[in-house]
Amino acid sequence: MLQELYQEIILDHYAHPRNRGRLEGAEVVVEGVNPSCGDEISLFARVRDGVVEEVRFEGKGCSISQASASMMTEAVRGKTLAAVRELVDRFRRMMHGEPPDEEALGELVALQGVRRFPVRVKCATLAWVALERGLSEYECGRTAQVVASTEDEL
Ligand code: ZN
Repeated sequence: MLQELYQEIILDHYAHPRNRGRLEGAEVVVEGVNPSCGDEISLFARVRDGVVEEVRFEGKGCSISQASASMMTEAVRGKTLAAVRELVDRFRRMMHGEPPDEEALGELVALQGVRRFPVRVKCATLAWVALERGLSEYECGRTAQVVASTEDEL
């Protein structure tokens, strides 16, 4: 039952991606790639006063990579950089096998089923790796477009 619900959430985000498109004047622009599956995303974020005000993405690839990106944009919009980092960390820990904090992760727990297919975990983490990389560059004062690969993930 729960697995079916999770599957539905993922497919809904894949079929109807939220916050899709480019963002002009974004401070954070990241090209994310997941070579193990061929997934790609372009991530754009606007940061104001330490808050991720707007975040959008474009991309192509498997349903898990694109659904995860869509879910990520909804989860981080309006959050402070510190809160986003915390969420990225929670999400990563869930994907690496820790029991999820369901209250903090909300709908994102739908992606935990992907853990059963270890080769697909990077599909789910792609958007998050790209986001984390982009925000790190931003916090270092660099706003040029950066490239992030799931192969670089620790
Ligand atoms: Zn994939």
